[in-house]
Amino acid sequence: MEKDILVGSHVSMSGPKYYLGSIQEALSYGANVLMIYTGAPQNSTRTPLEKCKIDEGILLARENNMVIDKFICHAPYIINLANPDSEKQKFSQDILINEVKRTAGFKIKYLVLHPGLHVGIGEEAGLTNIINGLKVVLDATKDEDVIICIETMAGKGSELGISFEQVNQIIEGCNNSEKLGVCLDTCHINDAGYDVSNIDEVISKFDSIIGLNRLKAIHLNDSKNLRGARKDRHENIGFGTIGFDTLIKYVYDERLKGIPKILETPYFNKKPPYKDEIEMIKEKKFNKDLFKNY
Ligand code: FE
Ligand code: FE
Ligand code: ZN
Repeated sequence: MEKDILVGSHVSMSGPKYYLGSIQEALSYGANVLMIYTGAPQNSTRTPLEKCKIDEGILLARENNMVIDKFICHAPYIINLANPDSEKQKFSQDILINEVKRTAGFKIKYLVLHPGLHVGIGEEAGLTNIINGLKVVLDATKDEDVIICIETMAGKGSELGISFEQVNQIIEGCNNSEKLGVCLDTCHINDAGYDVSNIDEVISKFDSIIGLNRLKAIHLNDSKNLRGARKDRHENIGFGTIGFDTLIKYVYDERLKGIPKILETPYFNKKPPYKDEIEMIKEKKFNKDLFKNY
């Protein structure tokens, strides 16, 4: 793999080996970056950091020349900063504050966040709640060296952050905080209506609306659905409607170098596809028979 090409996948982080196990898993896929959830994505139960074998993990990652400063954490899905119920809104803020601190505890710099669902109160009201919630969180975590990366969403249900304009509205609403970045998910923007195959247009729109300097992570996923479907169902690299040739462009584009590309593609027959998908990416060659032996 060319040295400045950063490719990995989301990996598990669970006992007994915790972060050490995450690093081992990523290395077994041939990855040089990774993404973890610091606990189950669906809840806020968290193993204390002291038990997570963080130093052992970092040591192993270093020995294997992984690009540690481009590792990513993902916040749990239960967070909804747009929630109109003030108690639930506060609950989401508290979880996110804790998650920022945990991310720092793993010595990871980037935390990906789904901005939220407006659950019926409308886009503008939802975006306002997100902005107010994020301000509280940013204020409470000033001292942490963590950038919260707002993920571009597919537009399923009442999801917000479904256009570059909305993502930018959130960032501007937070006074263009330096602690905010963006995670671009190729499946999500396809499902939200962007023409992913036109990489020049995607990059120039992103740059003019948000600013390319805000782009800190790319979720590299194919999609099971057509452009604009607003579904959010990920497909294996090259097996979906976006296709291998388009996705590979995002990995090797000069303008996106230095940005980690993270696979969140589905398991095949309960087996992780990441080693094989990463190999295809490194060889820049699609293998349509990839899953024949799974
Ligand atoms: Fe996500
Ligand atoms: Fe994603
Ligand atoms: Zn998704």
